[in-house]
Amino acid sequence: MKGVYIVGASGSIGTQTLDVIREYSNEFKVIGLSLGHDLKKAKEIIEEFKPEIICLRNKEEIELSYKPIIVYGDEGLLKIASYKKLKEEIFVNALVGISGLMPTVVAINNKKDIALANKETLVVAGDIIKSLIHDNNVKLTPIDSEHSAILECLQGENKSEVKRLIITASGGSFRDRTREELYGVTKEMALKHPNWSMGSKITIDSATMMNKGFEVIEAHHLFDIPYEQIDTILHPESIIHSMVEYEDGVIKAAIGSADMHTPIAYALRYPKHEIIRNKPLDLIGLSLHLDYLSKDRYPCLEYAYYAAKRGGVYPAVLNAANEAAVYLFLNDKIEFLDIEQIIYDEIHNDKYERYQYDLDSIIRVSNQIISSIKERYGVK
Ligand code: MG
Repeated sequence: MKGVYIVGASGSIGTQTLDVIREYSNEFKVIGLSLGHDLKKAKEIIEEFKPEIICLRNKEEIELSYKPIIVYGDEGLLKIASYKKLKEEIFVNALVGISGLMPTVVAINNKKDIALANKETLVVAGDIIKSLIHDNNVKLTPIDSEHSAILECLQGENKSEVKRLIITASGGSFRDRTREELYGVTKEMALKHPNWSMGSKITIDSATMMNKGFEVIEAHHLFDIPYEQIDTILHPESIIHSMVEYEDGVIKAAIGSADMHTPIAYALRYPKHEIIRNKPLDLIGLSLHLDYLSKDRYPCLEYAYYAAKRGGVYPAVLNAANEAAVYLFLNDKIEFLDIEQIIYDEIHNDKYERYQYDLDSIIRVSNQIISSIKERYGVK
C-alpha cells in the first residue's frame, strides 16, 4: 500500500485524482486531504475516504462520523505535508498559486514522492526543488497533459539525442479572435474553454497563453532541456498532448483523448499504463491541425521565456504579477488585455535583480507583488 496525501482535493485535479484512487484502492490509501471552501463537498469526500488528517481553509465546524486530526489554512497544509504514516507515500499537489510551493518543499523533506499539478512550484523555484528531490532521493512526476506526454515520449531514449520538445497548445477560449477582438471580452467568455474542463485560474491562463509559458518553464526543469530547445505549437484539437523531436528527425508524439484522468494515473503509477475508465480515442476519421503559436498574438508566452532567461526571482515575479492580474480580472477590476500589461511592467522592473534566489526571497517577493498590485486597484 502507498499512502496518498492530496492538497487541493476538492478542486478539478483533486477530484479526478480521487477517481483514480477509487479505481486503484488496492494500491493506495488516502492518509491526508486538504479541502476548499465548499464544506458540503468536503464532508462527502472525507466520509468516503476517511483520512487521518484533514486541512480546512478556515476554522469552521464540520460534523463527521469519526475523529480525524483537523488542521487549518496554510499552516495546516504544511502539517499534512509533514505527516507520516506509511513507508511509501506520495503527495499530490493540486493547489493553485504560490501557496502550493511550501507544501511541496515540506513533503519532499519528509521523503514523500511528489505528483505535481501545482505549476508555481517549478515555475518559481525549479532549481531549488530539483536539488531537494535529489538530496532526499524521492521522485517527482508531473500531472499535466503536456509534461505527461513528454515523459512518455522520452521513455527509453537518450536525452542528448533530443533536438527539441514541442509543447502543444489548444489556443484557449479566444483562439479564434484577433488581438483587436480581445478588447472588452468578459470573464464569462474567457472561462469557456473549448477542450478542457479546468479551474478558473488556469482557464484564464490558457486564454492569455501564460499557462503555456509556465509549461515551458516547467518542462525546462522537469527534463533538463535548455529553453532554446523548447518550442510551442498551436493544436486546436488537444489530441496530440506534446511531442519530442530527435536529432534524426523522428518525432514522437503522445496522443489520446483530452481527459486528465490519464496523466493523473500515469503520475501516480508511473510508468504503468493500465487505466480502464477512460474513453479510448477513435482514430478513424481523425483530423489534426497544427499551426504557429504567434508571440505577437500571445505576448505572455514571450514574457515567460524572457523572465525564465532573466533568471533569479524573475520567474516568481512573472508568476506573482500574473496571479494578481488574473485575480483582478476575475473580480471585474481590470480588462482582459490589462493582464498582459501588468505582467510586462513587472518583469521589466530592474529592482528584482538584487533579490537572492532562495525560498525566502521567492515567497517574500511574490507576496509583495501580489498585494501591491491588488492594492493599486483597491483590493485588500
Ligand atoms: Mg497543460
